Amino acid sequence: MSSSPVWHPFHQHGLGEDIPLVMRGEGAVLHTADGRRVIDAISSWWVTTHGHNHPRIMAAVREQTEKLDQVIFAGWTHEPAETLARGLVEMMPDGLDHVFYSDSGSTAVEVALKMALGYWHNREEPRHRILVLEHSYHGDTIGAMSIGARGVFNRAYAPLLFDVSTVPFPADDPQPTFDALEAACAVGDIAAFIVEPLLLGAGGMLTYPPQVLAEMRAICTRHGVLFIADEVMTGWGRTGTLLACEQAGVTPDILCLAKGLTGGSMPLAVTMATAPIFDAHYSTDRSKLFFHSSSFTANPVACAAAVANLAIWREEPVLDRIGTLSQRLGVVLDNLSQRREVIRPRQCGTMIAFDVDSGGDEGYLADIGPRLRAHFFANDVLIRPLGNTVYTMPPYCIAQDDIDRVAAVMASGIDLCVG
Ligand SMILES: *Cc1c(COP(=O)(O)O)cnc(C)c1O
Repeated sequence: MSSSPVWHPFHQHGLGEDIPLVMRGEGAVLHTADGRRVIDAISSWWVTTHGHNHPRIMAAVREQTEKLDQVIFAGWTHEPAETLARGLVEMMPDGLDHVFYSDSGSTAVEVALKMALGYWHNREEPRHRILVLEHSYHGDTIGAMSIGARGVFNRAYAPLLFDVSTVPFPADDPQPTFDALEAACAVGDIAAFIVEPLLLGAGGMLTYPPQVLAEMRAICTRHGVLFIADEVMTGWGRTGTLLACEQAGVTPDILCLAKGLTGGSMPLAVTMATAPIFDAHYSTDRSKLFFHSSSFTANPVACAAAVANLAIWREEPVLDRIGTLSQRLGVVLDNLSQRREVIRPRQCGTMIAFDVDSGGDEGYLADIGPRLRAHFFANDVLIRPLGNTVYTMPPYCIAQDDIDRVAAVMASGIDLCVG
């Protein structure tokens, strides 16, 4: 029994596992209270892009704390929110002209769903059904869980989850996905189709090609179904480009961004929308306004961190760093793929993943996951396998020595599990 009152997320306290106390972060490295230097090989659950405690982001935060901590955002505004919104509109695909703030990926997704339903409602053509891609993850609030894959993580809450339509994941042959999408869209009750572009994260680091994304977008356009891109994880360079959608030349109707929006330093999210979505809520009729807010909408300090992140993107060779890192990770994956136990190797930009063939022990609760995690941690590397899926997506600043170390502990971890 631990003496701490803290109840941790996605953690089984009953197993009595060690909970490291982190004192300091720097680049791709976390320093613990017991003096260990741990490589953060999963970017602290996919949020840290340029590295922990990035000097420019931390300086922006410090500066903002001298000016304004927090202010109501309903009908009020402040400099960091205005600067950030203008910067995002400039940087993101043309047409996403409106920026709605919230605080996490889950809320960005909830907002996207509410925008989509509000759009149809205010046009007096009500549509309620949401179409989703098999194996998706969009967050842990009730709405976000509803549109995500069902499994052990949400079984207890199933009675509260709303019904959605699901199209199959575009595995080797995308045709069944296209056919199912066509058929679902043709019925006429679908408000929106939501996807994780190119890379499904929590569903097991599953990838699909840009052409498939482009075709799915085209089908939605043909049927007037709103297309929501959840780039909460894929955004900010993770897949090799600023947005994954870029690789497919796709502009969504609604775009969700969070995690790397502040470089991963502060909780902040945006849901960006095209003019038709905003215009459907624009009226002299107050009953048509967008009914969503949270206390800390567009927190000024978090916005200042995001403004600094945008400056880094504009002024530093971020895409070059990402290209170099992707190349180095590709080498790691090639080497690991030589092993018989490494199956389904895959890469998407700065993310590499593979499954460990451990003789049938698969799925999120596969025993091999916690065993590997313990092995990685014992070797000062933070990696949390998703069941038997092992992956790394480090901060872009990770040093070659640290990449080598991650590769070495992955290799020894596989040996341990199959040996
Ligand atoms: C992490 C994630 C979310 C949820 O974001 P939170 O900030 O954890 O609420 C939503 N969608 C995707 C694709 C994610 O990876």
